Amino acid sequence: MAKKKSKEVKVNFKTSWEYAPAPESKDHIRLKEKYDLFINGRFTAPLAGKYFDTINPATEKTLAQVADASEADVNLAVSAARDAYEKVWSKMPAKERGKYIYRIARAIQERAREFAVIESMDGGKPIRESRDVDVPLAAAHFFYYAGWADKMEYAAPGKKVRPLGVAGQIIPWNFPMLMAAWKIAPALAAGNTVVLKPAETTPLTALKLAEVIQESGLPDGVVNIITGAGTTGAALVNHPDINKIAFTGSTEVGKVIQRAIAGTHKKYTLELGGKAANIIFEDAAIDQAVEGIVNGIFFNQGHVCCAGSRLFVQESVADIVVRKLKDRMETLIVGDPLDKNTDIGAINSKEQLNKIRQYIKIGINEGGECYESSCSIPSKGFFHRPTLFTNVAQSSRIVQEEIFGPVLAIQTFRTVEEVIEKANNIPYGLSGGVWTDKGSKIFKVTSQIRAGVIWANTYNKFDPTSPFGGYKESGVGREGGLHGVMPYVEVLHA
Ligand code: NAD
Repeated sequence: MAKKKSKEVKVNFKTSWEYAPAPESKDHIRLKEKYDLFINGRFTAPLAGKYFDTINPATEKTLAQVADASEADVNLAVSAARDAYEKVWSKMPAKERGKYIYRIARAIQERAREFAVIESMDGGKPIRESRDVDVPLAAAHFFYYAGWADKMEYAAPGKKVRPLGVAGQIIPWNFPMLMAAWKIAPALAAGNTVVLKPAETTPLTALKLAEVIQESGLPDGVVNIITGAGTTGAALVNHPDINKIAFTGSTEVGKVIQRAIAGTHKKYTLELGGKAANIIFEDAAIDQAVEGIVNGIFFNQGHVCCAGSRLFVQESVADIVVRKLKDRMETLIVGDPLDKNTDIGAINSKEQLNKIRQYIKIGINEGGECYESSCSIPSKGFFHRPTLFTNVAQSSRIVQEEIFGPVLAIQTFRTVEEVIEKANNIPYGLSGGVWTDKGSKIFKVTSQIRAGVIWANTYNKFDPTSPFGGYKESGVGREGGLHGVMPYVEVLHA
């Protein structure tokens, strides 16, 4: 019998994977036309009367106008936080503080759908992610830190712990609600009061949180939320009556802040950029690893500080991994963030989309081979197809620099030593991933990569009990767990 020639089967995803639209309803969302600053328990108009638009990046339509806080507004917010600290919050029994934090957690749960839809409208992330990750994790952080409020003495046995005072907190646009929770919950649990500034492109969930905080009966001035751009953030950083700066954002701005507070009494934690190595060994479960690569780089459009944006594949399995990855990328749906089928939503802003496009050009000019999925994308709004680069060098800019978009740079390696050296040869040190069947290899690799978090055979798993933070230019300090609350207290010998 004549032998049949084996033929490569190409799956046509275009015809076999059509989903009917499944849009999340917006009917329950209440957005004001104009948002004031939340200072001393009240929504207060900015002194200079200036507002700016916050838009939906998927439609380019304005969602609301938001106050632009000047230095004078920052002064009011810090003075409200100081008063609340001195007169109320630092005097309140710790277990009472815990009850308020618990109440905020419950209120977030009760309004979870509203928060999730607003997060997706203001930031562009798929509703599946804001609904299943951002909002539940934000509530979980408040629950978790509510538990610490009256146990801080037990965290440092035989010593006394004292809150720092007023914390100035500045957050980015990629996880607006979750970052607000990471900041506010441990600060309050430790007995501090706060002034928080959300990012200028995503202020709405923080302002909704202000409504929840108002309804929770939290004493006036314990949490103040001010909106604005970099100058508002700088006024907060430079305010002399701030005891601690907690910043999450780019390494560039982190360095500016570190210089600004050098030589002052201010304590600080900086959660900055990243360029994680996601490492696939030849003995890994390849299909699961491909899912992990997709989750690592395309989750939240790649706007993730710990994104697995550098992929290292062992040479012997590189061809099959890249082929399976390209096939999987073809199935990803890019589009309306409010559609439950959507895998990749809108890029957060036009500026960010331009930055991503610029890096694609740089990658091509450097000799990289660029592959984009062939999916359709909406004609209005800011969207980018999932993209990967092969044929890149360790020195390529798209390998060394944080793009913060759905763009993966793929390199190969032969030995464990080689991949450890390549993974560490980068200014950042925030996170990483290892995929292998061998426990011993996991221990060897994870112990030698200089990064705050490394996942093994999974990626992007978060939990409020688990510390998160960076080495090198990825920052200073940790958030989450006991590690996340200790930077908000002074430990004194009893
Ligand atoms: P960004 O640094 O541009 O802005 C972050 C925040 O700082 C915003 O609220 C902004 O208004 C404010 N700001 C800007 N200039 C300032 C100044 N001079 N003084 C004080 N505040 C100022 O960052 P981004 O583009 O909003 O966020 C993306 C970056 O955040 C990425 O680099 C990402 O890796 C990083 N990030 C890190 C973590 C982490 O935990 N390590 C988490 C999320 C995001």
